[in-house]
Amino acid sequence: MSDPLLQVFKRIDLSFAFGKGSWLYTQDGVRYLDFASGIAVNSLGHSHPHLVKAVKAQLGKLWHTSNLVRIPEGERLAKRLADASFADVAFFANSGGEANEAAVKMARRFHSAAGSPERYRIITFAGAFHGRSLAMISATGYEPYLDGFGPPVDGFDQVSLEDWSALDRAITSQTAAIMLEPIQGEGGLRHVAPETLRRLRALCDAHGLLLILDEIQTGVGRTGKFFAHEWSDVEPDIVTVAKGIGGGFPMGVCLATHRAASGMAAGTHGTTFGGNPLAMSAGNAVLDIVLDRTFLDRVLTMGQMLSEGLHRIARNYDDVVAGVRGMGLLQGLQMRTNAAAFVDLLRSQHLLAVPARDNVVRFAPPLTVLPGEITQAMRRIEIAANLLRDGKRHPPRKRPARKSPVMPREGCAPPANAELPA
Ligand SMILES: *Cc1c(COP(=O)(O)O)cnc(C)c1O
Repeated sequence: MSDPLLQVFKRIDLSFAFGKGSWLYTQDGVRYLDFASGIAVNSLGHSHPHLVKAVKAQLGKLWHTSNLVRIPEGERLAKRLADASFADVAFFANSGGEANEAAVKMARRFHSAAGSPERYRIITFAGAFHGRSLAMISATGYEPYLDGFGPPVDGFDQVSLEDWSALDRAITSQTAAIMLEPIQGEGGLRHVAPETLRRLRALCDAHGLLLILDEIQTGVGRTGKFFAHEWSDVEPDIVTVAKGIGGGFPMGVCLATHRAASGMAAGTHGTTFGGNPLAMSAGNAVLDIVLDRTFLDRVLTMGQMLSEGLHRIARNYDDVVAGVRGMGLLQGLQMRTNAAAFVDLLRSQHLLAVPARDNVVRFAPPLTVLPGEITQAMRRIEIAANLLRDGKRHPPRKRPARKSPVMPREGCAPPANAELPA
């Protein structure tokens, strides 16, 4: 079949027509339990009424004005993010990679404005993922992403996490910052211990470096705190956010202290689309829900339930599962074999998950996931683990998929008779 889409993704032959809460429905009304959330993006699940209402209201008012004028919705979102975090200022972008570009430029500019333009190098860690732009594949330092794209962008030095002597050697008079994810997402849910973060903060302070945390995957409540770094007492200088903040609307944010941002004078950076009223309405609507203390407590409870379920599976299936990684609603199973193959088996049971490096199968359900949905997911994982044990590859789901004969005519509303979570 000739496909006019650029073939950079190995797409599965599956598509969805609408979604509701933690469920996705095909055109035929077959439903899948979504523990992928579009890779930790649909933080409020699908078609969350508050998010739909807020974006619809903005849709009929104003989409875009450019950053040549004030955007009140963005000023409000920036203030709310600052009030909820270490940050003083926010720069809005359209994606995670762009937020990281802003962070790296900010760190370089910080030193340049302070009279040390030679300090431009950023230290990153093996297993990182920071995005797909030319600079961010350099920051990521993963050979398959770099191959064939010419010389990597200069200015990134990579060491292994917790290899303290390598880190000491990597810090030079040219170093500007240390950049890392509090939990490596694509790298396989490797958690950076609070003690490690504290030690990195101390090193930054000792050498005059900025600490950049990439919370594009871990931020906005994913781990049960608004930011994952809040599990430690470490105060970063710059934090990047994307994925969950728009609840599915593309946006990214680079948050910083006044001090870290001090080099970014008018004209030093910019964006056409970043911070447009439509994206800002989505971001504000997500915060309306996520910043509620009881909401984050609920994420913690659901995370605990997910953890117990996954640990039980890891114990009962220790011939195929090596262990459990991650925290909150970003957890996974480290498999003894190929993770992608297990993701395929899970999908045969209509459970969506995402593979990561290190043979890890990632589960990132919507933060609004219900206890019964976690129970169902565990059941489907067990069935898939049995199939993996038996060496079967793509068996059909045991119970026939229930179908909904009437399809919605437009938009996201599920048909009245669609099978919805209780
Ligand atoms: C997804 C991700 C990115 C890249 O975000 P894009 O929106 O795809 O550019 C960067 N860092 C981390 C930790 C991510 O999970």
